[in-house]
Amino acid sequence: MSIRENVERIREIIYRSAERSGRDPEEIILLAASKTQPVEKIKEAYEAGVRYFGENRVQEGIKKIEQLKEIRDIHWHLIGGLQTNKAKYAVRYFELIHSLDRESLADELDKRARKIGKKQDVLIEVNIGEEETKYGVKPENLEKLFEYSIKKENIRILGLMCIPPYFEDKERSRPYFVRLREMKEKLERDFGVKLPHLSMGMSHDFDVAVEEGATIVRIGTAIFGERE
Ligand SMILES: *Cc1c(COP(=O)(O)O)cnc(C)c1O
Repeated sequence: MSIRENVERIREIIYRSAERSGRDPEEIILLAASKTQPVEKIKEAYEAGVRYFGENRVQEGIKKIEQLKEIRDIHWHLIGGLQTNKAKYAVRYFELIHSLDRESLADELDKRARKIGKKQDVLIEVNIGEEETKYGVKPENLEKLFEYSIKKENIRILGLMCIPPYFEDKERSRPYFVRLREMKEKLERDFGVKLPHLSMGMSHDFDVAVEEGATIVRIGTAIFGERE
């Protein structure tokens, strides 16, 4: 299957999952997770209509952003964990950072964004499965991190992101997606704010994520094929 065929099939699945759950398919962003993919493949996905790309590593992402900078309407997101010392590069290059997970990173992003006169859009990553090896704030500390970060003038929190534990059976991801949505709704109620985004769902479970309210699905393998 070509990248174009993959993208078309994914769009159809997103469309059907949205309809099934009474949502507007247009509000769902298909973000291509392009880590390890060369710029040629990214261009192919762009030509198939993809406009959002997510990179995991700051340096790798910047290289590709520089190589593709003549293309105006690409949106670059950082979806991988972010080291504090890379925050200054991240704010220069990425429109949305999906991985705010600690106060020290909020401090640094705020400071670096202020320096370049930017308001940095972020999502808070929640370690929804409470796994040792994963990035993300623990669910019990989410509210505290939110309260801390929302006061930062040069950060704008747009929602939450999660990577649930991997299961063969995608239905097992569903309770995690539900939980993330409920956390978002609770923050909205408690703080009287609107959080437009839920970044959740990958190649094997994005249809379930859309049914549960995802507004950004991050898809790698199902677009580009298996990574090297
Ligand atoms: C790689 C990656 C994805 C996409 O994973 P696939 O299973 O290839 O779709 C999504 N989100 C993050 C944070 C990733 O690192």
